[in-house]
Amino acid sequence: MVNVIDRRIFLGSTAAIIGNQFLSGIARANRAQPVVQTPTLQISNVITRGIPAEYQAYLDVQTNTDGRFTLGLLKERIPGRKISRAIYDERDRTEGRLFAKPADQAQPSAIIDGRNAGIEGVFNIHDTGSGYESWYPVSPVLWLPEYAEFATNYLFSIDNSLKRIPAGITSAFHRNESWTLIGKDIEQTYYWLNPSWRTHDQNTPIDPNKPWIEKIDGRWVDNRRYANLPGLYLPDRKLIVIPQTHITYGTANGIKDRNGQDEWNRDTIFHEGGHGLDYLTSYSNCYSNAHGFINAYEKDKSRIADSEEHMVSYYLQNRAEPFAEITGALMGGLSGRRAARILSFFYNVAEHVRTQVLPHYGYRITPEQIREKIYSGYGSDRRAALTLYPEIQLASSLERDAGVCMHLHNNSNNGSAIVQTQTHNHNTVV
Ligand SMILES: [Zn+2]
Repeated sequence: MVNVIDRRIFLGSTAAIIGNQFLSGIARANRAQPVVQTPTLQISNVITRGIPAEYQAYLDVQTNTDGRFTLGLLKERIPGRKISRAIYDERDRTEGRLFAKPADQAQPSAIIDGRNAGIEGVFNIHDTGSGYESWYPVSPVLWLPEYAEFATNYLFSIDNSLKRIPAGITSAFHRNESWTLIGKDIEQTYYWLNPSWRTHDQNTPIDPNKPWIEKIDGRWVDNRRYANLPGLYLPDRKLIVIPQTHITYGTANGIKDRNGQDEWNRDTIFHEGGHGLDYLTSYSNCYSNAHGFINAYEKDKSRIADSEEHMVSYYLQNRAEPFAEITGALMGGLSGRRAARILSFFYNVAEHVRTQVLPHYGYRITPEQIREKIYSGYGSDRRAALTLYPEIQLASSLERDAGVCMHLHNNSNNGSAIVQTQTHNHNTVV
């Protein structure tokens, strides 16, 4: 392997014209050199006090050498900048006291495991020739526009959630070019995608005395504006959009911030991911439009009494919502209360998704595994489930439930072609 890499680099240089004899000499010489393995290093100490204000922590790294190496973790992602910086003595680098040069320049000099600092990913340390840089690779389906700013911890939270989606489903999103877009606020997300939504919001006053969801003429209606949505899925762009902050429903400028809200962020990623999966088969004929799904949905719906509807009102607006929520629950990403609620009210839908949809993406889960890991009442009588989890009866009135999205069907009034989703250059490292 080392020979192959060296030969390629060598052939790219002008010295390649010297000829084969020299090349074989190089190959022989390389055989004697030790293979340089990129070391994976742990964080030995987390310092949060007495550091410059722009940093949230200094992460000391156990280098196994005499040299000292620290990662400075910034509080905010600043456009065009990385979320972490390598802090070291330049002499240690130039004199080779920190990390050996990798065999291939594209490879990192060191990999830093973030776990000791409560970070699930790794930082790759690259030697650019003039210094070390720290890169944090994110999920291949996360889209971080160059201009976007946000709290570093919010990014970690979203990225960790995406990395927990079963691998077969993430690969399908990647192949299908389904992305998750994040940004600081509604300006950097919803209004950036669709400037006409800002006008729509400005022209749509909210009656603060009205609940965000209510039954009007026998139908459940969502009263929120775009500005009030904690996240949404855009089927025509295959795009999940989750701003760090949005405006609290019923207020002029109350801010709801996702920073530090890991459970809520995970709930949202898995719910919106469920919408994304709905459209993996085809745009015009998604899974929630299949006959089997419709039958299961109607069966479950007919068993929900009028007096119980408020507990699951959001999922009675259309079929796409229970599809998304059930899928999120079965993939293991929803919080306990949300999983219990949806799986107990929509058992037939869940069985349909479990047996007819998820196996297409290599994800198989048995009812026993669901009972063991996700919701112990799975498959039993709903009344029993409600006794087991009495709090779910209140769940639909909790703030966190606003985490469910507004599902937009192909609506030509949304001006959806304003910003094209680019298929590359989505910043896979920050
Ligand atoms: Zn939704």
